[in-house]
Amino acid sequence: MRYISLNHNSQPVDFKTAVMNGLAPDKGLYFPEEVISLPKKITDNIKSIDDHELCYEVIKGYIGEDFSKEELIQIIKKTIDFKIPLNKIGDNQIYSLELFHGPTLAFKDIGAKFLALCMDKIKNDFKSKGITVLVATSGDTGGAVAKGFEGLDGINVCILYPKGRISEVQEKQITTNDKNIIAFEVNGDFDDCQKMVKDAFNDLEIKSKITLTSANSINIARWLPQMFYYFLAIKKMDNENDNIFSVPSGNFGNICAGILSKEIGLNIKLFLASTNINKTVPEYLESGIYSPEKTKPTISNAMDVSDPSNFVRIQKIYNNDIQKIKKIIKAFSFNDNQTREAIKDVYNRNNYLMDPHSAIGYLGIKSYLSNNSTNSSGIFLSTAHPIKFKEQVEKSIGKEIPMPSRLKGIMEKSKRSIEIKSYNDLKDQLLSKVN
Ligand SMILES: *Cc1c(COP(=O)(O)O)cnc(C)c1O
Repeated sequence: MRYISLNHNSQPVDFKTAVMNGLAPDKGLYFPEEVISLPKKITDNIKSIDDHELCYEVIKGYIGEDFSKEELIQIIKKTIDFKIPLNKIGDNQIYSLELFHGPTLAFKDIGAKFLALCMDKIKNDFKSKGITVLVATSGDTGGAVAKGFEGLDGINVCILYPKGRISEVQEKQITTNDKNIIAFEVNGDFDDCQKMVKDAFNDLEIKSKITLTSANSINIARWLPQMFYYFLAIKKMDNENDNIFSVPSGNFGNICAGILSKEIGLNIKLFLASTNINKTVPEYLESGIYSPEKTKPTISNAMDVSDPSNFVRIQKIYNNDIQKIKKIIKAFSFNDNQTREAIKDVYNRNNYLMDPHSAIGYLGIKSYLSNNSTNSSGIFLSTAHPIKFKEQVEKSIGKEIPMPSRLKGIMEKSKRSIEIKSYNDLKDQLLSKVN
């Protein structure tokens, strides 16, 4: 499989090059040259195929030439080495797909680990002087990437996070790791962090001195494996209804992987893009005008993104036809009060605890099902464990929630980070690490 740039001014490249480049030289996102449908014998028999084997079938068209089957199965096994339960919430057709049982209790663990293991396998094809992964995080990416790359030889990871805008647990997960994980605390919001990362990738001086690569959801090796759990979820469904997925969306990588799953043959009727008040996409689908405003802080801060990078991939899948996009995606936006109310309500009625991001996913499905008569089942993706947003969850339900024992150790470690005020600060730091 070759990968084209969505800016159409760079040559197509193979998988390994696309992974190491992150972004194409013309600053476009990579996209597979072809969308490969799965054979009917797979899509008709999902329930009888072994989990790892199923994931292999899903991804092999995109990566299969670069790894042996055994290698890929190994990577898949190490990536998904925890449970992904599907819980029915109450007695209507609403299910929570819990993606938060991985090492940092967030769905990003899956993409990050898969990317790290791919990079570890292909790093020797590139310069042997060592690789620096540069990544911006709105909260959960940082920890997931740190844990994904921990213990991998010859790869340094630099993580930029917006100062004061991520939770305590998230900050600990980013700032308390091994020496090869360096945390940069940026005075600004996630879009500022993302901009600095983009600037570094376009900086010729940096390029000439460092082998720089990305780990954001724009990287195809993080994006593509997110298809796995859509397949695993449908495999688990205990009825034959149509399925609707509600995806709490920020940078729109997760939902875009879901849409690709549908396009290659998974039986999904509709996607709900559930956002917080950073609602560029809901507004676009309503008005046809794509007009990002300044990012607003919310309690679902991993989704505080006003110009989602991955949206161009969705446009690509549907040839930029907004009418087609509107048939597949309905979009919703909810504010912090609605989010807190949902957390409280579901806790009180169903004894089920959601973090603010998952709660927005829940609100999307609830809102859709109550305004449309349908026999469909609604699955919302639970993207983070409630403990990662302890304060907000406790405020919503009015009582304390216990810290899982696996997190206690990390909360006692002291934070190590470097403050960054401008792009030049970052550049100095990056250059000093190699000079
Ligand atoms: C990153 C993140 C999201 C948003 O995912 P995208 O792929 O960026 O749309 C949602 N919830 C949580 C908890 C996250 O960390």
